[in-house]
Amino acid sequence: MVEDKARFDYIVVGAGSSGCVLANRLSASGQYKVLLLEAGGPDTNPWIHIPLGYGKHFTNKAVNWLYNTTPNPEWVNRPVKQPRGKVLGGSSSINGMVYIRGHAEDYNHWRQLDNPGWSYEDVLPYFRKAQNQERGEDEFHSVGGPLNVSDVYEPHPLADAFIDAAEAAGHPRNNDFNGADQTGFGYMQWTMRNGRRCSAAVAYLKPARKRANLFIETRAHSTRLLFDGRRATGIEYVQGGKTKTAHADGEILVSGGAYNSPQLLQLSGLGPAGHLRDIGVDVVADMPDVGRNLQDHFNIRMVYRCNRPITLNDAVRHPIRGAREVANFALRRRGFFAMGASVAAGFFKTDPALATPDIQVGITLFSAEKIGERLHPFPGISFIVRLLRPESQGTIMARSADPFEAPAIRPNFLHAPRDGEAIARGCQMSRKIATTGPLAEYVEAEHIPGDDVVSDAQMLEYLRHNGATSFHPVGTCRMGPDDRAVVDPRLRVRGIEGLRVADASIMPRIVSGNTNAPAIMIGEKASDMVLADNN
Ligand SMILES: Cc1cc2nc3c(=O)[nH]c(=O)nc-3n(C[C@H](O)[C@H](O)[C@H](O)COP(=O)(O)OP(=O)(O)OC[C@H]3O[C@@H](n4cnc5c(N)ncnc54)[C@H](O)[C@@H]3O)c2cc1C
Repeated sequence: MVEDKARFDYIVVGAGSSGCVLANRLSASGQYKVLLLEAGGPDTNPWIHIPLGYGKHFTNKAVNWLYNTTPNPEWVNRPVKQPRGKVLGGSSSINGMVYIRGHAEDYNHWRQLDNPGWSYEDVLPYFRKAQNQERGEDEFHSVGGPLNVSDVYEPHPLADAFIDAAEAAGHPRNNDFNGADQTGFGYMQWTMRNGRRCSAAVAYLKPARKRANLFIETRAHSTRLLFDGRRATGIEYVQGGKTKTAHADGEILVSGGAYNSPQLLQLSGLGPAGHLRDIGVDVVADMPDVGRNLQDHFNIRMVYRCNRPITLNDAVRHPIRGAREVANFALRRRGFFAMGASVAAGFFKTDPALATPDIQVGITLFSAEKIGERLHPFPGISFIVRLLRPESQGTIMARSADPFEAPAIRPNFLHAPRDGEAIARGCQMSRKIATTGPLAEYVEAEHIPGDDVVSDAQMLEYLRHNGATSFHPVGTCRMGPDDRAVVDPRLRVRGIEGLRVADASIMPRIVSGNTNAPAIMIGEKASDMVLADNN
């Protein structure tokens, strides 16, 4: 444990997807003393590393912040679970391991919003630097990086049928969602190495842990940034019931994720002045947009009852098959235990006039009444239908000055009418795939939402009552060139010296895909900027 009042060159708050990258890259030369503070514990729970363990972490407070949304009218006033990793690796230690970067046009849009250095051409080298693509190197992919990207280990007849059915329904095939074109259907790629999760902690911290200049403190909850005027000079944190401080001669990098980074800034006096005063926090700088611009991928699960016992639901119910799965994983690292959340997916447009896909649908080889609950007692698969480019935006606001109280999370999903229309249409188009030739041969019936939900209007009503999040919150410490932006395009907090935010919260707009690879890319790019600006 580091001593109270210790001094460092860099302090990184949060050992998640972005924070692990920063800790590794900033300490690599041996020149700088780096402190990494993580509120959660070490990643020693074996289920973190067994891919199928993903399902166990939704309700496990040992590794999860277990947040909930604040009920709002569009959601018929029901709270919705918001899991976030609270452990070394952050959300990359509890996520579904899907490796998707988003659309090239997402990043070109960031650049058009006047953020130099963030076009697709600019960020591609950082995706490549991070990556060890098992398929080998090409224009879009690289080998030799810390983050292992694997193919789905074994094809599955239901995934094959899903892709074939999509093709029969008029969609193209796509063998690489991170390649030249995102559109189409195909198998996923996963952040796994030899059937084990490759979290940011495994990829970036494990190889750096023994460095004499890297100090990793777990169960160390950062409670407040310390300032000398407008310069961030240190951090206060609570560890083992004791309040300690650490001081940075260089910079402090806040990488607490899209919910916790804005909360920490607000509790430190950086945020909407009126709100800060209301909750009893002294204002250091009035920054109205800290905690605004929250975006996430609204989603809905559709469940299909199958006519053959070849899903995970069947394997867990059948003792001999279950034992075979255990042996298959123990001996070969294959089978259901080595499976990410989704095995195959598709990207498509709900309106041909759109420039890029607005829906992602993924297939999982299991089903349950609710996510994280017991699997169905019948063969089942699920479609996860996700709205990729939502117009609705929400907020994260500290509820009080207490750093241990969860922030108020208001995603405002479906606030923009277009969002509801698009995802309702996306569900109907996904339905067609389930009832088309190759997949229809396996599908007995639609269990969720079921035959009662027919029209788009009924679908929208169903979505309001049952929709959820894809666990991709971003944007709450928005990067931009304008005065209200929280960070500038070099991720420096506006008007404050020695402080940057580097994690998914800096995205000006959500990307059209999953958000782990982008958060890792942000960590890579931020590391380069920090080192360049301090030399
Ligand atoms: C259940 C789930 C499934 C997902 N599935 C996928 C998927 O399949 N593919 C994909 O690409 N993305 C997926 N995601 C999203 C992806 O994992 C996240 O977008 C990404 O990990 C975010 O990275 P981050 O660095 O911004 O934050 P995080 O990885 O969440 O890291 C933040 C870290 O900061 C720590 N922290 C926060 N506050 C403090 C504090 N005050 N003091 C000290 N430490 C603090 C946290 O404990 C955490 O470790 C999923 C997410 C979840 C939760």
